[in-house]
Amino acid sequence: MLHRMITPTHCCGPNDAAPAISRQPSRRGVIGAFAASATALATGSLLGAAPSAAAATAAASSSDPFSLTLLGTLGGPPPLAARFGISSALVINGRTYVIDCGRGAVSQYMRAGLSMPSLAGIFLTHLHADHVVDYFSFPLLCAGVVGKQGFQSAVDVYGPGPSGLTSLLADPAGQVPGTAAMTAQANQGFAASTTFFLTEHFGIDPTKLLNVHEIMPPASAGASLANKAPSTMAPFTVMENDDVKVSAILVPHGAVYPAYAYRFDTANGSVVFSGDTSPTPNIPRLAQGADILVHETADMAILPQLGYPQAAVDHIRAVHTDVTLLGGIAAEAGVKTLVASHLTPGDPGVLSDAAWRKLLRQSAATADYHGGMILGEDLMRIPVRSSHQG
Ligand SMILES: [Zn+2]
Ligand SMILES: [Zn+2]
Repeated sequence: MLHRMITPTHCCGPNDAAPAISRQPSRRGVIGAFAASATALATGSLLGAAPSAAAATAAASSSDPFSLTLLGTLGGPPPLAARFGISSALVINGRTYVIDCGRGAVSQYMRAGLSMPSLAGIFLTHLHADHVVDYFSFPLLCAGVVGKQGFQSAVDVYGPGPSGLTSLLADPAGQVPGTAAMTAQANQGFAASTTFFLTEHFGIDPTKLLNVHEIMPPASAGASLANKAPSTMAPFTVMENDDVKVSAILVPHGAVYPAYAYRFDTANGSVVFSGDTSPTPNIPRLAQGADILVHETADMAILPQLGYPQAAVDHIRAVHTDVTLLGGIAAEAGVKTLVASHLTPGDPGVLSDAAWRKLLRQSAATADYHGGMILGEDLMRIPVRSSHQG
């Protein structure tokens, strides 16, 4: 397992070129987790008109050079039948990148029909359980496995470096682990499986097929535990290859440090993931002109009605983004489409999909935002296309 700390020496902003609106209606993936109507709420369908079946089929073409699949759309750790944990996948020219690995991510990856041998990268926005609980399932279950269910080429992992805080648990170093230590300790924790199964028969150490890159903000950001997401910092590059450039920016998420939002820029469009964040100018800065912004959200107004203690309501309000603000964020960023994900509450028995869509419409109308607003659904697949492609 290779550990590399990324400490960028230069900063760069999002693409200058403004990609065209991605108006393709979305559809469910190969297996829907629950029944609901199509959810594209582009400018022309803010009143909830569903896309035609033909359009939905066209939208799902596997030949798209760039597509977004929502593997799970639930916010928070408690398991729920209706939605899997937060996780998304981008397929870029046949390579697959997973962003966050919430509950069920590896299963949803297979249910979405994604190719495990095509897995090229895993990006973790932060290390809360609802974003990482299925992370180690990828190497533990798939590393070295022959065929469609595994990968034999090294997968690059990008995630936060250590915070420097002392752990509440007595781990040997006494520190809260970053992505590298979390990976190493998970590997140690599962050593019985590796020893008695993989190594016994195949000699495979799962982490031998991971390249872990820990991300720390550049010094120029001026970030620290006391100033976790400086509102004037510039996005910085964390990875770049022939297909994609990935940029990051710090976001404020309560006590968490560092916590990142990521932007993926390609020749065929751009997608931004907010990670978990309270409202911050860093998101519109990172997402400026992007085709799609996948943004976390919570309906704060309903939480007190659900029996949440006031302290829990106050905490959620302080570290997440209320749904009423999404239209304004999308408008300020100038994104073509906003996809609401990491939904709290995620139980349709508590807040129905129709009620969520109404909240999104109201938010867009209040902010005079005329781009697309999509309610995220598990296994929803959305093609990403920039303007020059029509
Ligand atoms: Zn979360
Ligand atoms: Zn979180």
